[in-house]
Amino acid sequence: MKSKLPDIGTTIFTVMSKMAADCGAINLSQGFPDFDCPDRLRELVTEHLNGRKNQYPPMAGILPLREQIAAKVHTLYGAQVCPENEVTVTSGATEAIFDAIQATVGRGDEVILFDPAYDCYDPAIRLAGATPVRLPLTSPAYEIDFEALASAITPRTRMVMINSPHNPCGSILSRDALDKLAATIRGHDIVVLSDEVYEHMVFDGRGHASVLGHDELRDKSFAVFSFGKTYHATGWKLAYCVAPAGFTAEFRKVHQFVTFTSVSFLQYALADYMRECPQHATELSSFYQAKRDRFCELLAPSRFRFTPSAGTYFQLADYSELSDEDDMSFVTRLTREHGVAAIPLSPFFASPQPESRIIRFCFCKEDATLAAATERLCAL
Ligand code: PMP
Ligand code: GLN
Repeated sequence: MKSKLPDIGTTIFTVMSKMAADCGAINLSQGFPDFDCPDRLRELVTEHLNGRKNQYPPMAGILPLREQIAAKVHTLYGAQVCPENEVTVTSGATEAIFDAIQATVGRGDEVILFDPAYDCYDPAIRLAGATPVRLPLTSPAYEIDFEALASAITPRTRMVMINSPHNPCGSILSRDALDKLAATIRGHDIVVLSDEVYEHMVFDGRGHASVLGHDELRDKSFAVFSFGKTYHATGWKLAYCVAPAGFTAEFRKVHQFVTFTSVSFLQYALADYMRECPQHATELSSFYQAKRDRFCELLAPSRFRFTPSAGTYFQLADYSELSDEDDMSFVTRLTREHGVAAIPLSPFFASPQPESRIIRFCFCKEDATLAAATERLCAL
């Protein structure tokens, strides 16, 4: 059979988590917590599961959950969004990103994204028949080069994708960067797809700059968020997209035929939990900042070099003092011989990165896990 994605293999997250399991290594590769979601949230899930919330919920998500999302967006970003027409619940941010791309671009269109880029973006663009145009983030801080962005815009450019806080780099976009983005695309028929799944993991008091808090960008953006990240429940695959009514109408035309709707009792539980416990989300940055600080402190005596992340639950580290191997060979050896799994950076680039000596560690782990892993890393 002719492949539609001939150069795509199995995602690096699956490859590395399987390698970690096969070798019994500590898994700091794929991003998921090794602690559970809140007890009260699990109680609410059980209540709604046993309370007969087991048939199709509405296609766009249950209204009480969309109302909680709209209220939160208003509190955090000052935006008035309509829960009926501007919020859609999806089966993971991966689905929301796929739907937004399929709804917006097709053959002959170009989508600009930045390398390193989270791995589901490029295939979704190509499955839509459009062309990904991949620009490098500038080193060492992984920032957008707005002059390069302006030069890359053509009459065929239909979308620019941004991701802040950034996976895999742990960098964040400032309010000033959003202003520059708005100025760069002003006057063009360009839509923004803003992946903000780590909105609640921004450190050192900087605060998250959402496109929803930016008057100009809000009117031309799909903004994507994930319950999986915020509630320590990545396996639930529940997320949402906030976009202007006209965008949302097109988005839902795709969503209704990709998944139609998402797990019902989890939506009811999340709606209740968001109302009962809004501080869970707002306290998350300090919770994860403590984990980042702990991990960085424990890793400091090692021969890895790093700058602490500004956001997300990932930490990049340069291993060039330890080895001259390419990053895939290094993480394979690290997993098999030293018992710690990590993610190489090269799969996040369009072209091979033979010189890259950077890997990504995930620190959303119990302190004991971080201690055990860094003990091994410091022994290298
Ligand atoms: N975007 C980014 C940047 C991510 O890191 C992830 C998952 N880790 C996703 C999207 C997908 O999120 P979900 O699991 O909700 O599909
Ligand atoms: N986004 C997660 C990460 O970056 C992985 C999600 C997945 O495995 N699809 O590690």
